[in-house]
Amino acid sequence: MPEVFNWQIGRQMSYPHEERHPKMQFAFVFNTNRCIGCQTCTMACKSTWTHSKGQELMWWNNVETKPYGGYPQHWDSKLLTMLEEANPGEQVWDAREKDPDRKPYGEFKGKTIFEAADTKPRPDGPQAALGYLPTDEEWRSPNIHEDTATCKSAPAKDEYGGGTTLPEHRVWFFHLARICNHCTYPGCLGSCPRNAIYKRPEDGVVLIDQSRCRGYRKCVEGCPYKKAMYRPTTQTSEKCIACLPRIEGKDPTISPTGAPAETRCMTSCVGKIRLQGLVEIDDDGLWAKRPDNPLYYLIREREIALPLYPQFGTEPNGFYIPPRWVNRDYLTQMFGPGVQGAIEQYSCPDRELLAVLQLFRAQQQILFRFAIEQGPKVGEIEVTMPDGTSKTQELFNDTIMGYNKFDEEVVRITVQEPTFERPADIHVNSI
Ligand code: SF4
Ligand code: SF4
Repeated sequence: MPEVFNWQIGRQMSYPHEERHPKMQFAFVFNTNRCIGCQTCTMACKSTWTHSKGQELMWWNNVETKPYGGYPQHWDSKLLTMLEEANPGEQVWDAREKDPDRKPYGEFKGKTIFEAADTKPRPDGPQAALGYLPTDEEWRSPNIHEDTATCKSAPAKDEYGGGTTLPEHRVWFFHLARICNHCTYPGCLGSCPRNAIYKRPEDGVVLIDQSRCRGYRKCVEGCPYKKAMYRPTTQTSEKCIACLPRIEGKDPTISPTGAPAETRCMTSCVGKIRLQGLVEIDDDGLWAKRPDNPLYYLIREREIALPLYPQFGTEPNGFYIPPRWVNRDYLTQMFGPGVQGAIEQYSCPDRELLAVLQLFRAQQQILFRFAIEQGPKVGEIEVTMPDGTSKTQELFNDTIMGYNKFDEEVVRITVQEPTFERPADIHVNSI
């Protein structure tokens, strides 16, 4: 297999295809601290793309309750177990040697799904990636274990007292919203024997060519996130298409000037947890330095948003601000060694970070740049830090502006929520 460079695991790795990179890359940040599990995103996607015959069990966007929930059931714990069996005790990170550009989380010393592929010989020959095909039962209950918290079956009376006190809850769950990560080195693409899957050079969106697909389901098997799905009525596989018309600026309601807009699941998010964008990619595959791009700022500059299971090796382009009340070992397994630093920053965001966090769901067009106008100090609050100490956070009423692809200002929002007083003689809601 050719060697490619994966910055999320901080090293070269083998991949079935030569290294090649798009000019821009579809990417997103989900702030798990804010997700309320309302499934509005799920239904926005379902009613747009997967409401036809044969797509009944197909949820391109899903929100599962961790640690027990999963769609398909057990997708992550199954693959983690397979990887551990393929490389016992060696699936570890060396987080000591970091380099902000090439290894921001250190180096993953274990095996990725591509490197572990040949550890499990199969009767149908060598595989491109370690994976498995979920059973029909596993696809059947997309929201299984909704809102189910960790708990022993019969806890001692005082065992969980004070369970909801930061920095870490002793009883916890959180909502993990998921879509296709439009990975840099997709497992689905690498596993397809028909070369039916491709990555668009203009925006890095990963698509399945329906005319080439023969429904072998190798992509379903090879996607570690299980985001390629089989449709029995057409006997082909389908997946998230990143709401292409919107990314291309072809929705005249949202983009009258043709500027790229965010996807349906992003723009419908009630909890304001989602921010989607396009980031510029250099020829060597690394992200071009654009500290005023909101996604670059959150992911590369501040490292507050982390990839989902970076150790799988696909270099996913979905990033998560980890939930700050959840067991740290669990989070580190899921988001890598950057968890502690991300939670620390999110617990007490500085002035600039707090302003950028206001951009989540403040508009529908994709933001390519932001700028901040400083405002007055409006308060101070005491916050609990991850190590249990408290810290004073200063609050400033700064204003942040976001600009679309054509550098037009499309959002202007203040840190302090404005209060509007309705004139006494107008009662719009009264009957
Ligand atoms: S998440 Fe899965 S389906 Fe999406 S690009 Fe990555 S490997 Fe392919
Ligand atoms: S719409 Fe937003 S808040 Fe609601 S479940 Fe989806 S990601 Fe979470």
